[in-house]
Amino acid sequence: MNNQLYNDYGTWIRTVFPYRVQKISVDAGFSCPNRDGSIGSGGCTFCDNNTFNPPYCNPAHTIAAQLEAGKAFFARKYPEMRYLAYFQAYTNTYAQPLERLKRMYDEALSVDGVVGLVIGTRPDCVTGSLLDYMGELARQVFVTVEYGIESANDATLAAINRGHDFECARRAVAETAERGITTGAHVILGLPGEGREESLRQAPIVSSLDIDVLKIHQLQIIKGTKMAEEYARKPFHTYSAEEYIELIASYLQRIRADLVVERFTSQSPQGMVIAPKWGLKNHEFANLLVNYMRKNGIRQGQLA
Ligand code: SF4
Repeated sequence: MNNQLYNDYGTWIRTVFPYRVQKISVDAGFSCPNRDGSIGSGGCTFCDNNTFNPPYCNPAHTIAAQLEAGKAFFARKYPEMRYLAYFQAYTNTYAQPLERLKRMYDEALSVDGVVGLVIGTRPDCVTGSLLDYMGELARQVFVTVEYGIESANDATLAAINRGHDFECARRAVAETAERGITTGAHVILGLPGEGREESLRQAPIVSSLDIDVLKIHQLQIIKGTKMAEEYARKPFHTYSAEEYIELIASYLQRIRADLVVERFTSQSPQGMVIAPKWGLKNHEFANLLVNYMRKNGIRQGQLA
């Protein structure tokens, strides 16, 4: 951690690359085993994949074409920029055989200026042979495998129809990290049934996983999701920005200081969000958080 109050991704990634890098989202047309019936159907109750994709990212175009479109979008501002292909939408290891996945990742890496991959997936959708391959790849280029963990509580995971338990996430993280692959995790705070106390119980558990990067999101109720129906039937509490700032500061105190924190908030298009409606951009939230932490003498890892 530099002189900042938490170990932020932007600072960390500048130590990994000698140049500026930007993630470009790719929708490679993957599906999700928690939607197509192979693990579950209906998907996670909070999920609306329409909120995943920025405008330049269209599965009707090839992976290379999406990356070129993303490059054109960002290169106007920073011509010297390099890129990470971010396989974000749905479950980006969910395809057979392995050769097919390799072709997709190779296609991304063949695009001029692409210096690495970030692959978002479920903890129950990786195999030993896939991780072996990614471990090999990670010796040549930057590779992050990012797992949706969402909660450390099996009752919550069942209630949101996640289709895997926390032990599954723990195993996948360990098997990924032991191959030398940069490993990321994603959690959501404020899931139904999880208040402040449960999130603060979760923090040291997540921190004990062998992850390098953590993304934290506030729960957002998105139109058209199963959770939106549940919320309409029986509204439950979603965090105000002030409550969430206090919670995140307390969460950060309880995770190890060397864990890189990539995000605190998710920003779905406002028209899609039912609750909570903060009207804050990510950087505005980060500023409020830093002010709060400074004022209260809080730093990441203080209570870890
Ligand atoms: S959140 Fe991920 S795993 Fe869950 S339904 Fe959506 S794409 Fe599938």
